[in-house]
Amino acid sequence: MLINIKDLVEDRLCYEKVRELRWSEGVKCPHCTSQSYKRHGHHNSCEHRYRYQCKNCHKYYDDLTMTVFEGHHQPLKVWILCLYFMGLNLSNTQIAKELDLNESDTQIMCNTLRSKTVELKPSPILENEIEIDEVYIVSGHKGNSQAVKKKNRKPRCRRLKGKRGRGTAVDDKVPILGMVQRDGQVVLKMLNDVKTKTITPVIKTQIKQYSKIYTDEYAIYNWLSDFYYHKTVNHGRKEYARDDDNDGFCEVHVNTCEGLWSLLRSWLRPHRGISQEKLPFYIGFFEVIHNAKNRGKAVLHQLLAILL
Ligand SMILES: [Zn+2]
Repeated sequence: MLINIKDLVEDRLCYEKVRELRWSEGVKCPHCTSQSYKRHGHHNSCEHRYRYQCKNCHKYYDDLTMTVFEGHHQPLKVWILCLYFMGLNLSNTQIAKELDLNESDTQIMCNTLRSKTVELKPSPILENEIEIDEVYIVSGHKGNSQAVKKKNRKPRCRRLKGKRGRGTAVDDKVPILGMVQRDGQVVLKMLNDVKTKTITPVIKTQIKQYSKIYTDEYAIYNWLSDFYYHKTVNHGRKEYARDDDNDGFCEVHVNTCEGLWSLLRSWLRPHRGISQEKLPFYIGFFEVIHNAKNRGKAVLHQLLAILL
């Protein structure tokens, strides 16, 4: 006998969870933000989906009004299960199978949830000790093949200008800039290129001034010493970690970034053929999951909290 997980999850409990998260500080009108309301039955489609009327602007709304879950023919529990499986990094095909849905419907649901999560996710500000590094992901416009490729550059000769081994979005090697606070959050940004003028505003927005920043010796990071305490590790000279302050710890390294790239590589593997247009959503979703896990938070709860 086949068991379908959908039959074991109740819409009633899903709506209770939604209300708990969305109305944690009381029911609030999504049109005018007034907290003065009266209950007004339930939505036609589901008795567990409460309706309200605002006493201020007199408009009606319900538990899902103006959220990503509004206005779909699939019941709420299917959306929540979909989100749960996405948090476990199942591919669209696997999710379609688990939920007994067709693949194109599942793809639409996953794309909707992924892009909305990324749109609404908080953008952490990093401080204290931070590593910055870049990685290149092979990703075309039509979405054929993709793979994370670690920059594989030879020792750099600073006199030589050029982009040996460097990717730009134009040649299908998309640069991702990673900023990692040691024992803290990560921020990942997909960029068109890794020129100084491209990365400068991104770094200045995400990282508090006078933080300690570790990078490799790539010249695009040279300006950092104007705003931060900047240390570089010289991969070109086969140096991977260094003890600068003589306390016995080799604190100058970007190994946390290296570890993150390996996690990202595994995360993207089940999803074949991510196009450049969709890549930022996969990267952003990975960031949310990584940060939630890092802080010991339940992933589904965190995702719902963002979406509601
Ligand atoms: Zn109102």
